[in-house]
Amino acid sequence: MQHKTIIEPFRIKSVEPIEMSTEQQRQEYLKQANNNLFLIESKKVIIDLLTDSGTSAMSAEQWAGIMRGDESYAGARSWERMRDAVRDLTGCEHIMPIHQGRAGESILYTQLGGKGKVFISNTHFDTTRANIEYGGATAIDCITKEGQQPALEYPFKGNIDIEKLETAIIENGAENIGAVILTVTNNSGGGQPVSMQNAKDVRSICDKYKILYLLDCCRIAENSYFVALKEAAYQGKEYREIAKEMFRLADGSIMSAKKDALVNMGGFIALKDKVIADSCINTLIIKEGFVTYGGLSGRDMEAIAIGLIEVFDKDYLHYRITSTTYLGDKLHELGVPVMRPIGGHAVYIDAKALYSHIPVNQYPGQALVCDLYLKAGIRSCEIGSVMFGKKDKNGKLIPATMELVRLAIPRRVYTQSHIDYVIETFADIIKEKSQPKGMKITYEPEFLRHFTALFEREL
Ligand SMILES: *Cc1c(COP(=O)(O)O)cnc(C)c1O
Repeated sequence: MQHKTIIEPFRIKSVEPIEMSTEQQRQEYLKQANNNLFLIESKKVIIDLLTDSGTSAMSAEQWAGIMRGDESYAGARSWERMRDAVRDLTGCEHIMPIHQGRAGESILYTQLGGKGKVFISNTHFDTTRANIEYGGATAIDCITKEGQQPALEYPFKGNIDIEKLETAIIENGAENIGAVILTVTNNSGGGQPVSMQNAKDVRSICDKYKILYLLDCCRIAENSYFVALKEAAYQGKEYREIAKEMFRLADGSIMSAKKDALVNMGGFIALKDKVIADSCINTLIIKEGFVTYGGLSGRDMEAIAIGLIEVFDKDYLHYRITSTTYLGDKLHELGVPVMRPIGGHAVYIDAKALYSHIPVNQYPGQALVCDLYLKAGIRSCEIGSVMFGKKDKNGKLIPATMELVRLAIPRRVYTQSHIDYVIETFADIIKEKSQPKGMKITYEPEFLRHFTALFEREL
């Protein structure tokens, strides 16, 4: 018999209580946090969909690995296990442990970047862009036109636009390109997958112009599931084999293990080239730690080595992707404008379409984030002009291309009934969608303003 209910392919061995709150209490909490959900304590959140980063539940096997962690300063057994797991997966010889993705970005893009350099990606993730720009270089996004249309059904909306990529290389001069960075799946572009064909096309372009090709591979397992599902040549192929093939097309990769390595902290840089790796090692030792631990404990490295195997399990990946799709499809049926098709780790609401009466300079995404919290204690994340908006010379907002709100699903954490509660909340939101007022920013820092900016509701 074919079952419709998605069951979690695991049993729960250990639980963490959730504190319930009333709408009245949440009104007060939100006021104290100046309408920025990054500034709310987690105990005041009922369902936390702020991010899938570092929020995974580890398996019994990973917790057992935690006990086996070898905490030696140099040459720990846990490091060997992590290094070998990463080498096997990526095919790269030079592996560096880092405490999280952005630490690796800072190290790698300081080496490759600087004033006059240009990086090209499908979409640079926020910390990637910030690290590149902080070093004085420029970050250019080349997403396809399909990837910019939230409602369009198209299998690989994470693909980089190969023509735009080539034009950007020619315009800026191949010698000035620090690297092409392919982000799989494309987090800021809606968690949409990248096809193997696209990854191959990037290889050809990088060969033609002799440019370094890197994978930002945080969600490589989820991407591999989509490749097997949607790309004819890969149907029925093992997810891990697909990932290996994609890794081997690139010259290196950088991973925040807080995503598809199913751990709470960690990451790596993997490179084929010894010269670049050696130049990174200096900064690694100064900033992160010795080459055999980076910023990690032995136990973290042990858990990463195990997570990198578990994440490719076919039952896990099937549950992971179908349960995210379940949430997205139900919202779609309710008439909530969502980014189609549903990506791997999150459902993205098109807040500009949902709250069409709120102009972009009043941040419709931030308004929705606040409403979800008030109504149900759900924490979500704005990915629009608060996160990516720029300013012109006169301080006027240059809005982001899309005003999205991300409901990111932590791995192996919430059950289907938690997700049904979220769906119920949206049924209410949609009924009152013409009422909410927009937001204004009352304070903002220079970089990554979404983390600490303060907001007020427009009157
Ligand atoms: C999370 C993420 C990063 C940064 O990693 P952190 O561990 O949060 O520092 C970089 N790129 C992508 C695509 C990400 O999703």
